[in-house]
Amino acid sequence: MDLSHLQERNKLIKNRLVIKQMSLHKCLKCGTYTLQETCSKCKEKAVSPAPARFSIEHSKKYGKYRRALMKKMKEEQESK
Ligand SMILES: [Zn+2]
Repeated sequence: MDLSHLQERNKLIKNRLVIKQMSLHKCLKCGTYTLQETCSKCKEKAVSPAPARFSIEHSKKYGKYRRALMKKMKEEQESK
């Protein structure tokens, strides 16, 4: 039976969606929401307004992924 494998896969896909939500950024200049750290409209820097807000409910379940994301974001910010 391959069912557990499929369930694992669905979980991974779900987690990826959560991470996407958490990496929502807002442009400092025009207020456009983007998933990138740079606004697609005016190329200004976009920041994540309150990452915890999106993830409080999921932070326990997806803590591992959240920490990985935070680490990645921090590294990216520091490298600029
Ligand atoms: Zn912008």
